Amino acid sequence: MIPLAVPDLTGNEAKYLLECVETNFVSSVGPFVDRFEEGIAKATHSTAAVATSSGTSGIHLALKALDIGEGDMVIIPTYTFIASASAVAQAGAIGWLFDIDPTSWTLDPRQVARALEVECDRRGERLVHRVTGKTVRAILAVYTLGNAPDMGALRDVAKAHSLHLIADAAAAIGSEHRSRPIGPLADVSIASFNGNKTITCGGGGALFGDDLALLNRARHLATTARVGQNYDHDAIGYNYRMTNLQAAVGCAQLERLGEFLKRKSEISSFYSTLAEGLPGVEAFPTEIFGTSSHWLSGLVLKHPGDAQALIAFLNERGIGTRPFWKPIHLQVPYMHWPTDGVSTAEGLWDRVVVLPSSANASRSDLDYVAEQCAEFFLKS
Ligand SMILES: *Cc1c(COP(=O)(O)O)cnc(C)c1O
Repeated sequence: MIPLAVPDLTGNEAKYLLECVETNFVSSVGPFVDRFEEGIAKATHSTAAVATSSGTSGIHLALKALDIGEGDMVIIPTYTFIASASAVAQAGAIGWLFDIDPTSWTLDPRQVARALEVECDRRGERLVHRVTGKTVRAILAVYTLGNAPDMGALRDVAKAHSLHLIADAAAAIGSEHRSRPIGPLADVSIASFNGNKTITCGGGGALFGDDLALLNRARHLATTARVGQNYDHDAIGYNYRMTNLQAAVGCAQLERLGEFLKRKSEISSFYSTLAEGLPGVEAFPTEIFGTSSHWLSGLVLKHPGDAQALIAFLNERGIGTRPFWKPIHLQVPYMHWPTDGVSTAEGLWDRVVVLPSSANASRSDLDYVAEQCAEFFLKS
């Protein structure tokens, strides 16, 4: 079986893990946690980073650190992984679901600006969404597959309405926005180091950015909101810190980030070329606003039925192939969240086919994928 997305752990992972065991630093304090946070800050050109137990807990933490909760509303694209929505719900807020731009597959700043003008009222300090009465507090932009949204324009919209700009950069370590690293672009950004991401800690996440006060607040909340050593806690806190074991793997992975990104970019180009040669097939999103980290790559088919058939065909032939995100507005827990036109996402999601995208996929693996895709279209 050619896997869809598996980690490459052939660097210093085992060595660093052994170091944790031998030095007895296996929990949330330890040199690898510090080193990993510094590494993430450096890779994203951020002032600092806070390592967390997962990307999802990182987003939740970012919202709590910004005091977003009950009565609040967060703008998110409907085409995202469920975690962006669950973090908003866990914070006690609700999402306002927006469409994606058909080329970049990211939030469209003009659509957001228009909706804020037309559907909200300013009541003193609050920007109120008229229909629900909720206070709009933030835009949670998503780097879809590592592809950057128009962060400059989103920043302008956020600023014009005094909203926070948060980035779900779960798969975007190594992504760029207009040739610049992504750390400084949002008030705070969140990465994931789940096993299927470009670099992994087994599981884990990080908040990164330039707002040190915000990051320190997040760190405090992630550490049970503990004050001093005597079981004093000054807020409702969480146990969301990353362990030294996870960070050890992360440090080894970071050493190879450049190599992994290069390989992912090659895989993306390979499948884009493949798409050009197949009837009615389109490539994955275009890099309009910067270089993508190309987390996962694949094909977009003309009809949902074709996508399902191709997925079944390739899996039968030992090629790990999957559909991709189902929009949030179609998910049972979030169907009641208000939407603002989601037709592009609705017309796209069930035509997307993700193909093997591991950094360690070999050339012959890719050739086999291409060959089998060609055979599928010959038959159908
Ligand atoms: C992977 C991912 C997450 C969740 O990260 P976990 O570490 O699995 O909690 C959130 N948002 C997006 C867009 C993702 O791709």
